[in-house]
Amino acid sequence: MKILVGVKRVVDYNVKVRVRSDNTGVDTANVKMSMNPFDEIAVEEAVRLREKGVASEVIAVSCGPAQCQETLRTAMAIGADRAILVETSEELQPLAVAKLLKALVDKEQPGLVILGKQAIDDDANQTGQMLAALADLPQATFASKVEVTDGRATVTREVDGGLETISATLPVVITTDLRLNDPRYVTLPNIMKAKKKPMDTLKPEELGVDVSPRLKTLKVTEPPGRSAGIKVPDVATLVAKLKNEAKVI
Ligand code: AMP
Repeated sequence: MKILVGVKRVVDYNVKVRVRSDNTGVDTANVKMSMNPFDEIAVEEAVRLREKGVASEVIAVSCGPAQCQETLRTAMAIGADRAILVETSEELQPLAVAKLLKALVDKEQPGLVILGKQAIDDDANQTGQMLAALADLPQATFASKVEVTDGRATVTREVDGGLETISATLPVVITTDLRLNDPRYVTLPNIMKAKKKPMDTLKPEELGVDVSPRLKTLKVTEPPGRSAGIKVPDVATLVAKLKNEAKVI
């Protein structure tokens, strides 16, 4: 059984993002980029399933510019067997990515597709759900535990106020939550090995997908800055301010 894993190249989670002065988006020039953290968890889970003998091959897919090759090499250093870059300079929205992944699902026929629950740049939380709908596959989102036996996946999901366990027939689309696993550290020997693993490059046209954006970003703004604090002379003034101004007590 093959596992297809989506890995997105995003602004590193440690970077303090800055909005461009013309409010058209986030400044990505000279900014450190990394694999979306939820996708590292997705790759780790897929590799663990292969190590357990549940899967035979892990294929990492990234859609975007040529620099996504780095993200794919990281996925292969974690343990993915091969990679597919769907190369485009077009701005990709979740529907376009879901269509590209659907075309790859048709081509590769994986038993599992594992994606992150959301990309930390667009915070869309849409691609997995859209892919499941387009490919007419069951979906198990926000997974915190995955078990695969006898052609079924049993997935524990993090839901409001608790956990839900569902069972779905393969093939299934799974999206990862933070507590699914702790991705392994990428070691130097594995980085070197990853350089030799195969990577195919395709264009969206070769997959028959029109990736042109459907949504237009009108404006991106920073959250309002916090106003400066003040010092109060005594507890009585503090209590009065909390009561009369902040109205929190
Ligand atoms: P989103 O719906 O944008 O929040 O993304 C959810 C998940 O879809 C991500 O965690 C990735 O696993 C996958 N994904 C989104 N965009 C891409 C992309 N450009 N290339 C590969 N996978 C992607």
